[in-house]
Amino acid sequence: MSAGQGVILPGATLGVLGGGQLGRMFVQEAQAMGYFTAVLDADATSPAGLVSHHHIRTGYEDAQGLAEMARLCAAVTTEFENVPAASLDLLAQTLRVSPAGSAVAIAQDRAAEKAHFVRCGVPVAPHAVIESPEQLAGVSADLLPGILKTARMGYDGKGQVRVATPAELATAWQDLGRVPCVLEKMLPLAHECSVIVARGQDGCIVHLPVQRNLHRGGILAVTEVYDENLPPAQASQALEAAKSVANGLRYVGVLCVEFFVLQDGSLVVNEIAPRPHNSGHYSQDACDVSQFELQLRCMTGLPLVQPRLHSPTIMLNLLGDLWFAHGEQPVVPDWAQVLQLPGCHLRLYGKAQPKRGRKMGHLNITGATPEAVRATALKAAAILG
Ligand code: ADP
Ligand code: MG
Repeated sequence: MSAGQGVILPGATLGVLGGGQLGRMFVQEAQAMGYFTAVLDADATSPAGLVSHHHIRTGYEDAQGLAEMARLCAAVTTEFENVPAASLDLLAQTLRVSPAGSAVAIAQDRAAEKAHFVRCGVPVAPHAVIESPEQLAGVSADLLPGILKTARMGYDGKGQVRVATPAELATAWQDLGRVPCVLEKMLPLAHECSVIVARGQDGCIVHLPVQRNLHRGGILAVTEVYDENLPPAQASQALEAAKSVANGLRYVGVLCVEFFVLQDGSLVVNEIAPRPHNSGHYSQDACDVSQFELQLRCMTGLPLVQPRLHSPTIMLNLLGDLWFAHGEQPVVPDWAQVLQLPGCHLRLYGKAQPKRGRKMGHLNITGATPEAVRATALKAAAILG
C-alpha cells in the first residue's frame, strides 16, 4: 500500500478488479456502508458490474481502464486472483491497493505458493516442481500416486490429473501442455478445512472461525461452522499457520488459507486465496462481521475488530446443476419452498445462464444448535433435489 495511510470514510469510491460474485458481494457490502463502488471487468453482464455505481468494461491490463479506476477510486482491491500483479502494482503508484501485487503473484503460482509455505515453516504436502523433462524424469517414486496440478490458472479442480505411475505422470504432463506443474503426493484426507484471516496495514490480524469444508468433484459443496467443529488443538494450529502465512507475505487484506486434515489428525496447508473465499460466505449471516466487511475495513484502514460467530451455520453452494435436476431444460429451483424453512438466507449472484458446475449462489443456514442447522440443511438439500 503506497498512497495515504489515513482512514477512507464512507462517501469515497472503492474499486474492485474483477466482476464475479465475490466482487458483487463486496460491492453490496460497501454500498450498504455508504461507499460508492467501481468494478473493472470486461463482461457487460458480470455479477458485480451489474450492481456497481461504476462499471469499467475493459480487460485487466487495459491502460485506459486502469487509469479510469485510479481516477475514480480512493482504494482498490481484487476479487480474482489471476488479475495481473503488474496491474495492481501500477495502480499502487497512485492509490491504495490491497492486497499487494507481490502477494497476489505468489498466490497465482502453486510452485511459488508452496515455496512460501516452506519459508514460513508451515507443513505442506510432499511435492516436486516439474518444469522440464529432466525434472519429470527425476521425480521420486515416493510422490506416487499423486496429483499433477498446473502451477497457474487452476481452480475448482481444473488443471489437475491424478497419476499412479511414472508413465501416467509423463502422459499427464504432456496432456497439460508441458506447462510448469506441481506434482503432489496423494494424501489420505480425513476432511478439509480453511480459515479466513484479515490483516490490516498495521499488521494486526483478526480471523473468522475455522471452517470445515466438503468438496464434490473438486468444487466446494458444503461449509459447516460451529463452536468446536474441530478439535481445539487442530483449529488453533490452523489459525497459527494461517497467521504465519499472512505475516510472511506482509499481507494487507482478506486471505483464505485452505488445509487438509489427514487421517492421523495432522494438518497440511493446501493453498491460499488472496481474497474472500467461497468457504467464508457463511460469515454474511452467522458472524457479526462478514468477510466482505473485513475486506473493506482492511482497504480503508477502518479498525479490525475480532469477528464473533453468533450462530451455528451451514453454507450450501448452489451450482447450476440444481437447475437441471429434472432434465435438460433449465428449471428455477423452488426457492419459496426452501425459504419456508427457518434460518435460510438465499444469496444468488444474478447470473442469467445456469450451467452445470457454475456457481449460481449459496444458501446460508443458521439456527439455535448444530443439530437444528444440520436438520434444516438436509431438508433444503432434499427440496433442491
Ligand atoms: P483448486 O485450486 O482447484 O481448489 P486444490 O489443490 O485445492 O485445487 O484441489 C482441489 C481438491 O482436490 C482439494 O480440495 C482436495 O479435495 C483434492 N486434493 C488436492 N490435492 C490433494 C492431495 N495432495 N491429496 C488428496 N486430495 C487432494
Ligand atoms: Mg482448493
